[in-house]
Amino acid sequence: MSLTENTIWHLYHSANALTIDGKLLVFDYATPAEERPAGAGLTEGYVANDDLQGQDVYTFASHAHGDHFNEVILTWRPKGGRITHILSSDISAGPESAHFMQPHQTLELEEMKVVTYPSTDEGVAFSVFTGGKHIYFAGDNAFWNWEGTRSEEAYIRDVLSKIDDSRPIDIAFQVCDPRLEGKGEGGIYVFARALNPILLVPIHSFGRYAINSKAEKKLKTLGFENTFWCVKGRGDSYSVAP
Ligand SMILES: [Zn+2]
Repeated sequence: MSLTENTIWHLYHSANALTIDGKLLVFDYATPAEERPAGAGLTEGYVANDDLQGQDVYTFASHAHGDHFNEVILTWRPKGGRITHILSSDISAGPESAHFMQPHQTLELEEMKVVTYPSTDEGVAFSVFTGGKHIYFAGDNAFWNWEGTRSEEAYIRDVLSKIDDSRPIDIAFQVCDPRLEGKGEGGIYVFARALNPILLVPIHSFGRYAINSKAEKKLKTLGFENTFWCVKGRGDSYSVAP
């Protein structure tokens, strides 16, 4: 099966798949096998083995929480392709061939470099360098401002300034959490301001996508001039400028 290059599919909550540089990257896919409707694949917002045929697949799992990781990814077998698992070291499942990563590590693979950061919750966040692009995936590395008392500047200093700046961020997957509405939404605004990614993609919505439309408006009023992909639901896709 050939998948269109430079496309992102939203696969619910924090899960996203991205075709880039002849590879299929899948981040934090957490839908249990039994919850995938028969025949549903990427265009419906799920991953089916059929989608993976002939693909060079890289799975990323930021931590073990059930909304970010499911063992279903370990059952994927791309016929005529290959699969590489890059998992946070707090995940206990996984084949011997998997790369288990702790924070502050660098993994050099053929045509891909992966850098990890500590999370403000569990596990790691990832920078992935491939195809000349820098892709950042936050996982739970967010601005968890539950009490409304945290400082954005401290979050920039302690978290965002630690992200590899050898290349500006082309595609950023950052938390935009409806439970933190009015308290920085998990960091989508401060991230846009501090790192100004070319494409900003919201994650961690728990299916409550209205928060993304609100964030899109607010980002405009805050002067963010790059692109925010206003994800509206499972199976939405986006064409990234090559
Ligand atoms: Zn989470």
